[in-house]
Amino acid sequence: MRWENLTVESGGNPSGNPANPALFGADAVTTRTFDTPEFRGITFHEIRARSIVNRVPGASRMPFEWTVNPYRGCSHACVYCFARKTHSYLDLDTGLGFDSQIVVKVNAPELLRRQLGSRRWLGEHIAMGTNVDCYQRAEGRYQLMPGIIAALRDHANPFSILTKGTLILRDLDLLKQAAAVTEVGISVSVGFTDLDLWRTVEPGTPAPERRLDVVRALSGHGIDCGVLMAPVIPFLGDDPSQLRATVRAIAASGATSVTPLVLHLRPGAREWFMSWLAHHHPHLVRRYERLYAEGSYAPKWYQRRITRQVHELAEEYGIGPTRAGMPRRVPVPEPVAPGPTQLTLL
Ligand code: SF4
Repeated sequence: MRWENLTVESGGNPSGNPANPALFGADAVTTRTFDTPEFRGITFHEIRARSIVNRVPGASRMPFEWTVNPYRGCSHACVYCFARKTHSYLDLDTGLGFDSQIVVKVNAPELLRRQLGSRRWLGEHIAMGTNVDCYQRAEGRYQLMPGIIAALRDHANPFSILTKGTLILRDLDLLKQAAAVTEVGISVSVGFTDLDLWRTVEPGTPAPERRLDVVRALSGHGIDCGVLMAPVIPFLGDDPSQLRATVRAIAASGATSVTPLVLHLRPGAREWFMSWLAHHHPHLVRRYERLYAEGSYAPKWYQRRITRQVHELAEEYGIGPTRAGMPRRVPVPEPVAPGPTQLTLL
């Protein structure tokens, strides 16, 4: 698919050094770098998309059918992120390139507003943050989400956001306005609260406790917020004491639900994760090869065990039932046709 969904913007190339000249011709993309600590080492490829509302491949397996993704690539740099594979469709590197070559659909808000106004659009639920994080660092500069939320609010179009980014609180007023006219579901992703694990496996994300502060703040303003406890990482984040500490912290944040999801390792993410594992925890490599011998997913018995443990802990700590419109369990995605809208482990 590469750039089929994108349109060409003629114009300059301030950096003069597109990442992939064959793909990023100087006429196709505006490539920028910013010499601030926050964005050092990151290249932004600004493009104008032709379409912003995407249908999910294999949507019957997902709790949503339509997504909006204003970015490709993610500076949150989670080692396990299986959106990594999608960078290869752009002829970009799926390792460090995924973390540092960020595609920005600069016309996303205006395009969404136009598509929502189309007579063909039936006002269905739109999920965001399902491919890459829409509140990653780039959003601090490009500020696409306020326009996107405003468009959804103005069309009273139901939507959900899944994020690890604390930046979502910047848009609190807009979210409240939208929640007053339509169904808004917010989920924050916190797979574990172990700080050593966080620093190495999710190096670009806000700390787990800061993410739970987001849940706390949203709840305090009357916006229900669930937690996707993902990923639960075998042998590193699945000890009963770790699960207990995580669920206890989630409960204390005021989350309305907790949905556990065990790490899965699809091609693209698998290679990157396994090289990280070999570097940081070489003694676990054989155990992982055995656990994921059948493919991208841990065995069903393991998934069921984690799910049961987390649900028991959730009950013990009194985390409430999932509200209408948000699934108690996110269905474990099965492999689908390669595309830009696969669910990630946000
Ligand atoms: S898992 Fe989510 S937050 Fe982490 S790199 Fe992937 S898209 Fe970004």
